[in-house]
Amino acid sequence: MSAADSDSDCIFCKIAAGKIPSRKVYEDEEILAFHDIHPWAPVHFLMVPKAHIPSLAHVGAGHAGMLGRMMTLAPKLALQEGCRPYPQGGYRVVINTGADGGQEVQHLHIHVFGGPRPWLKG
Ligand code: AMP
Ligand code: ZN
Repeated sequence: MSAADSDSDCIFCKIAAGKIPSRKVYEDEEILAFHDIHPWAPVHFLMVPKAHIPSLAHVGAGHAGMLGRMMTLAPKLALQEGCRPYPQGGYRVVINTGADGGQEVQHLHIHVFGGPRPWLKG
């Protein structure tokens, strides 16, 4: 990843670069997963590409592989982090996009949350 793939004002770029601490769930060359700081459910982690992509509205054909890898990783990490198995258990996978979509951090991220209800949100 080059410096051009990073935004110096972006909190998730700083987390991906290790400049801000996070409770890591998973890491490889292109993807980082870490616990959400304000969990909505007993299990709640975020998956982000290490490269700065502002939102799902900014993805193109070149991102298909990375997005596919994130989506196939999500169920594995959900179980690893304590979500109960499908179908009695399960989890929710959410990508807030833009102001109407409730996106607060402008770096593409996938919320994965689950565990026994009640939940705070979702
Ligand atoms: P969204 O509203 O989809 O943009 O969600 C952003 C999420 O990032 C929220 O659930 C926040 O709790 C979470 N968040 C913000 N800062 C941090 C941080 N430093 N570490 C972990 N999660 C964070
Ligand atoms: Zn970023």
